[in-house]
Amino acid sequence: MGSGEQWAVVSGQSAVSSGEDVADRDELIRWSVTPPHTARQSCRGQRTQPGRPQALVLLDIDGTLLDARGAGRRAFQRALRRVSGWNDDIAYISFAGATDLDVLRQVFDRHGARVTPVVARRFFRQLALELEATTAEEPPRLHSGVRELLAELAADPDVMAGLVTGNTGPCAHIKLRAAGIHGRFLLGAFGHEHADRLEIARLALRRAQRHARGRPVRPVVLIGDTPADIAAARAIDAVAVAVATGTCDLATLRAAGADHVVPDLTDQSRLRALWLGRLPPEPAQRG
Ligand SMILES: [Mg+2]
Repeated sequence: MGSGEQWAVVSGQSAVSSGEDVADRDELIRWSVTPPHTARQSCRGQRTQPGRPQALVLLDIDGTLLDARGAGRRAFQRALRRVSGWNDDIAYISFAGATDLDVLRQVFDRHGARVTPVVARRFFRQLALELEATTAEEPPRLHSGVRELLAELAADPDVMAGLVTGNTGPCAHIKLRAAGIHGRFLLGAFGHEHADRLEIARLALRRAQRHARGRPVRPVVLIGDTPADIAAARAIDAVAVAVATGTCDLATLRAAGADHVVPDLTDQSRLRALWLGRLPPEPAQRG
């Protein structure tokens, strides 16, 4: 990573000791990237009317923004071997909609071991190192419309873009950077901060409210590719947008109760209407 793109260890304590929400007071790792357009986003409040609502668009990463092509799973396998000495193909793990902390606990349970704070910290550091290698071997592919969507979000002074992901902070950054879309998000909440994606979504919303500096944050839109993302949207009263570029098809996402189901993120005018609050839920959509 170059200077200005470092993940900083900001505490000697672990944020993953119990899975509780400890990130606000004791983050293990903090996003410290401040690219120019992110800095511009943080100054938007000065250019807009105080009290005017600010929209929030939260995005999942894997299956939604990009296809990591198995890099995450391979990195997890290698990190396990390195940290714990287990030759485990973790074929019993589904990463779709999962969080890294929850996956780590499932694997350790399987081996009759416990995820201590020290082990979690060591594992997540190794995971990031392995992911650097696996993404270099096979770079992620951006899904259709993502670059255009992120450009739309960056161009609108009344919308904040954020991440709600099961990836740890460093792993999120590595995937986004490998896909060429790092630094496009004002805030995020990550899979090292909580094992439960619903709590990760709540963390992201709280961070957005702090960024909004007293302006109402609405509407909130959460875009993801699994029923877990839809549940996370429900947990924060967000509009649940499900995209069928991951492992779930349109029918599955519709059955899981998404407000809007889209085949991909190419329909920019429809997506814009969502964060402008101009599109009511459409339970009976066409595929
Ligand atoms: Mg996903």
